[in-house]
Amino acid sequence: MQTYQMLINGEWVDAVSGATFDDLNPYSGEVYARVQKADAQDADRAMAAAYAARKTWSATPPLERSLVIAKAGHILEDARQEFAEVLISEGGSTFGKAMFEISQTVDLLATAAADGKRILGETFHTDPSKLSMTLRRPRGTVVAISPWNFPLILSMYKVAYSLTTGNTVVFKPASETPVIGLKIGELFERAGLLPGALNVITGPGKVLGDALIDDPRCSFVTITGETVTGRHVAQRAAANLKEYTLELGGKNPLVILADSDIDYAVNAAAFGVFLHQGQICMSVGRIIVEEPIVEEFAQKLAEKAASLPKGDPSRPQTVIGPLINDKQVKKVDSHVKDAVAKGARLLTGGQYQDRVYDPTVLAGVTPEMLVYSEETFGPVASIVSVQNAQEALVVANDTTYGLSAGVITKDLEKAIYLAEGIEAGMVHVNDASIDAEASVPFGGCKESGQGREGGRYSLEELTEVKWVTIQKSQKAFPF
Ligand code: NAD
Repeated sequence: MQTYQMLINGEWVDAVSGATFDDLNPYSGEVYARVQKADAQDADRAMAAAYAARKTWSATPPLERSLVIAKAGHILEDARQEFAEVLISEGGSTFGKAMFEISQTVDLLATAAADGKRILGETFHTDPSKLSMTLRRPRGTVVAISPWNFPLILSMYKVAYSLTTGNTVVFKPASETPVIGLKIGELFERAGLLPGALNVITGPGKVLGDALIDDPRCSFVTITGETVTGRHVAQRAAANLKEYTLELGGKNPLVILADSDIDYAVNAAAFGVFLHQGQICMSVGRIIVEEPIVEEFAQKLAEKAASLPKGDPSRPQTVIGPLINDKQVKKVDSHVKDAVAKGARLLTGGQYQDRVYDPTVLAGVTPEMLVYSEETFGPVASIVSVQNAQEALVVANDTTYGLSAGVITKDLEKAIYLAEGIEAGMVHVNDASIDAEASVPFGGCKESGQGREGGRYSLEELTEVKWVTIQKSQKAFPF
């Protein structure tokens, strides 16, 4: 078992207090690694390093910055096995999900590297006596906080785009997946990043989050996590008059209309519900099916769910690996039991072995059940029956969340009606709710977050707009 240090100002260091904590393997339950347990003193050191590096890094020519980020992408591509091992061991990723996440992250790094040369201002042709324009300047020092479920790519959205826009970063990975965060630090160190431009500290979110957000040297906060965490971060940042982006939870609908190809709909639903054991912000949270096909759909989905290989996530064929921890197993099980007690039909699943929860299908889900409204974050398909597309839209919007959605139908008019009407940041027609690309606006509305990540949307969030004018000749002042 390895003990890891943190990256501050280009050096690998222990926590000032000397404290460490254990990073567990969710499949075996064994300690995978020991990492530093940072506190406010370490947050202060990391912030000081990032603040000191910001002038040099923001003045570094965009091409040089881009080359570092592109190089990090090449190193990651060559180190796929090394990163996959960490994603599997501490995150419970299946082998397939780990490889998918790494490929997506390589793509993200290539895109962020190129986007560093696409930071655009505007000119305003409003007053002929002057040139009037906007410049985009880095925010300064960004605090980036990420979750454990897609810990490589979700961290990289923040880190790579902060760096490509000339910001320096203090990055705090989730306590369930600290090693992948430290590996990101190592990746950029190997790529030749300026020391201090990226600092990675590991430890409790609330302690470090509050210390970093309150620090006057922090200029911007970006977090991906639960809605309750995002609300706290937003309040803290607002109290400090700092701007932020929030990528939070979801209860994403997948609407399946009666004209659909049922086998296709079953495959889309299975992917949307069961990828990474349902622990994705974009996971399908409710499957809303038109009544004429609901029984056939539910039976076929249950058959497919029961056939999915489960267990050891390092085996390439495994689809269902472990949930992240025992707390999450209890939560998922309590949601399933609550639904059954309130009248849902359990078609398959509802059992677990250690942290591997069987893929579960519930039919007859109704609004009073937890699985209808709360983020379950587990491999549970919750099927709601509706009479028509109008009712499907009402049910789809009957949630406090608004992250992503899927609509399956061959009827173009109904597809447009639903895509326009669903209150979500992202809607995918003839697909499940899980999709992301480096350059599209990723994010949600309602309680799923504020702001967007990816491509030019990240460039805008992570830069400050400044209006600059130049008088062409002396102007006549009124007095
Ligand atoms: P979490 O909110 O528990 O933790 C996220 C991060 O915030 C971690 O690094 C944690 O240490 C830190 N944190 C915790 N309390 C904090 C505080 N008070 N101040 C500052 N930071 C704090 O979330 P999680 O369990 O790691 O991840 C799962 C959640 O993330 C789910 O709700 C999921 O939907 C959401 N998520 C959203 C997106 C998205 O893009 N919208 C993507 C992935 C996950």
